[in-house]
Amino acid sequence: MSLALTVAVVAAAALFFLLAERTVPLRAQRYPWLRELALNLALSALAFGVSALLVRPAIVSAMGWSRRQDLGLVYLVEMPAWTRGLLAFVLLDLTFYYWHRLNHEWPALWRFHNVHHCDPDLGVSTSFRFHFAEVALSTVFRVVQVLIIGAALPAYAVYEVAFQLNTLFHHSNVRLPIRLERLLNLLLVTPRMHGIHHSQVREETNSNYSVVLSWWDRLHRTLRLNVPQSRIVTGVPGYSAPEDNQLWGLLSMPFREQRDYWTRSDGEKVQREPEDLGSNPYHLED
Ligand SMILES: [Zn+2]
Repeated sequence: MSLALTVAVVAAAALFFLLAERTVPLRAQRYPWLRELALNLALSALAFGVSALLVRPAIVSAMGWSRRQDLGLVYLVEMPAWTRGLLAFVLLDLTFYYWHRLNHEWPALWRFHNVHHCDPDLGVSTSFRFHFAEVALSTVFRVVQVLIIGAALPAYAVYEVAFQLNTLFHHSNVRLPIRLERLLNLLLVTPRMHGIHHSQVREETNSNYSVVLSWWDRLHRTLRLNVPQSRIVTGVPGYSAPEDNQLWGLLSMPFREQRDYWTRSDGEKVQREPEDLGSNPYHLED
């Protein structure tokens, strides 16, 4: 798929989810949504700029080099092209799980990923709200990813579209019928599952790292589905004051001294009452 077509499809999907979350919202919006949208668009524009100037050219040169050296896991064994493509798709998604988890577990990376998480109103506009330096740092991961998996595969283009579309979908504040979402969640990361990842409760943020396929959290025992959405406050407690959610403050945030992420400015620790939770962590609550 050409770049222009990818951009058109992703923009149309973003517009669709924006309208859908205004029509059937999942969680209550806390702040004026137009202001949220403007702020997140500004942060996303910087992220896309860095992606176009740095990440894409790096991937293209890594692909060229890797192809000449015949590198990559998917070339180790002889197999039909479609199997190779499927394997590459699955490996791309698995490696994104590790990269996302690393962004939570390494304090130096979390400084930047925090800018994405401290959005007080999780919704489709949060999808690409990343600090531009997080995008720049991901260049290293993306190059390693190409070298490990292998280049010259249409699977990259297919995965790119699936990644962008599912990122919009799982960040969106769209209320799907719970039975439909439970079904979709057997395969994909869905809005309720990812909503738990954006909870102010530390153990909930540090779960549900998958991006497209929901299996990786099951496999690595980081899945947590039993939190009802009505019990979730999204954001990061230490950065949850309204004045923390401003363009300049967010851009300079990773470079300043870090606060205790999990304590609110009034000193309150955010914890989950056990009676809020469903009994089976692998069962998605409404
Ligand atoms: Zn995250």
